[in-house]
Amino acid sequence: MKITSAEVVVTCPGRNFVSLRLETEDGVVGWGDATLNGRELAVASYLRDHLNPTLIGRDAGAIEDTWQYLYRGGYWRRGPVTMAAIAAVDVALWDIKAKYAEMPLYQLLGGASRRGLLAYGHASGGELPALFDSIDQHLDAGYRAVRIQTGVPGLGQVYGVAAAGGGQRYDYEPARAAARPTEEHWDTRAYLRHVPGVFEAVRGKYGPDLPLLHDGHHRMTPVEAARLGRSLEPYDLFWLEDCTPAEDPAALRLVRQHTTTPLALGETFNTVWDYQTLISERLIDYVRSAVTHTGGITAMRKLLDFAAMYQIKSGMHGPTDVSPIGMAAALHLGLAIHNFGIQEYMRHSPDTLTVFRTGYRFEDGLLHPGDTPGLGVEMDLEAAAAFPYQAAYLPVNRLAVDGTVHDW
Ligand SMILES: [Mg+2]
Repeated sequence: MKITSAEVVVTCPGRNFVSLRLETEDGVVGWGDATLNGRELAVASYLRDHLNPTLIGRDAGAIEDTWQYLYRGGYWRRGPVTMAAIAAVDVALWDIKAKYAEMPLYQLLGGASRRGLLAYGHASGGELPALFDSIDQHLDAGYRAVRIQTGVPGLGQVYGVAAAGGGQRYDYEPARAAARPTEEHWDTRAYLRHVPGVFEAVRGKYGPDLPLLHDGHHRMTPVEAARLGRSLEPYDLFWLEDCTPAEDPAALRLVRQHTTTPLALGETFNTVWDYQTLISERLIDYVRSAVTHTGGITAMRKLLDFAAMYQIKSGMHGPTDVSPIGMAAALHLGLAIHNFGIQEYMRHSPDTLTVFRTGYRFEDGLLHPGDTPGLGVEMDLEAAAAFPYQAAYLPVNRLAVDGTVHDW
């Protein structure tokens, strides 16, 4: 099972993706996702210039050893670029091992713990009628849980609200192809005044059963987040996500003292160490990391097993910048673990799905990774070559009152 080839593939079928293709001496191919939204070429270089040369000749079956070799061997540990690159290698090796075993990956991880993975989609609207239309579209598409994001009176484009009109619109795609980031504006007081009324209207129209989620996108101070969590309690949220900047875990202590709204955090994290305080002090309810950004299946499995000891569940990041390879990895892992919570699921564009041939399915609100040996996703390199890289950035946020840079 010696690795004989390691190649990076960068493609932009509507948005940028970085993938890793490993091949063994027997011609078995494994795929990994290394996409880091807005910083894609840094990970491509990390793989191409630093990791890939060290992989040639290694045993493709020695997954744990390779993970430790790359993590400890680099000396400079952690960070989103390093951990996305290690994740790509790790997922590609799991793909290869499952193909050798002639099993879908979830079988190697212990087998299915459930029929499928409850998924949530992104419903949004600038105002209530558009938001209701979006919720209706998601329910018609089979979703049984929805994230609710809304415009804020007085502000223009706001995080999480899909732009009106056509074009190649995903549910919500914030990265824009441009030479520099676009700039948005923000007013936390206006947001805090507006959001509870939106949830009151949604609960009034759709009743008590539908799981509702909301993303604060790191924009609040602890006391602001505590106030929002408390004001949303009557509407029984499934979770409030990223209510404060994630790199300050102690902030969640204050939020927790004031609200029983469940909290989700961690999509920008990249190791289990980032979660040590949050999990051991039970400051969150859901782990938001993606397999793609957290060192792969090997590391995510350990992180979620640690979380399970504290009754904390998975809520893996699944926007469209997680490629279909990364999504498949999340689905196999989510199907196998006991402490699965929910899976974010934005559908990829038709162009993306011509480049990535997927075997996973979405039926009756549940995702399933399929039963093809391996991950069940293969890339079409000819199709990928038709979509060259395009520079694209996530927006920058400024306070409306005076232009101070704020968390986006
Ligand atoms: Mg989020």
